[in-house]
Amino acid sequence: MEDCIFCKIVAGELPSDKVAETDELLAFRDIRPQAPVHVLLIPKKHIASANDIADSDAPLIGALHLLAKQVARQVGVAESGYRLVTNVGWDAQQTVQHLHYHLLGGRQLGWPPG
Ligand code: 5GP
Ligand code: ZN
Repeated sequence: MEDCIFCKIVAGELPSDKVAETDELLAFRDIRPQAPVHVLLIPKKHIASANDIADSDAPLIGALHLLAKQVARQVGVAESGYRLVTNVGWDAQQTVQHLHYHLLGGRQLGWPPG
């Protein structure tokens, strides 16, 4: 998808600090981390948000959660705890219109979120 930052990262047209990669998924560090650990997990194919996940994407989204579990262990927050969150639309302040899950940890995270 043209003009999508995350599609450009997938294509290698923009650099990223990769943490994990599969044929269908990519995990890389957020450029403006909000916690000591802040990794973004994305499907390589363009899906605009959780609102746009198709029934046929169920295995892909399942694989993304399994990758999140693996990444949490890899970056050392599996035991201390972490948050996996996806922002959808205006009220959640989604700023990149390519489905992504934030994996946040390394400090105690406030709840409820702001
Ligand atoms: P959202 O606000 O849509 O939930 O999250 C988008 C996230 O993408 C933000 O946390 C922002 O810092 C991150 N981000 C935006 N542009 C880039 C980029 O070019 N590279 C990386 N690694 N992260 C980005
Ligand atoms: Zn995209």
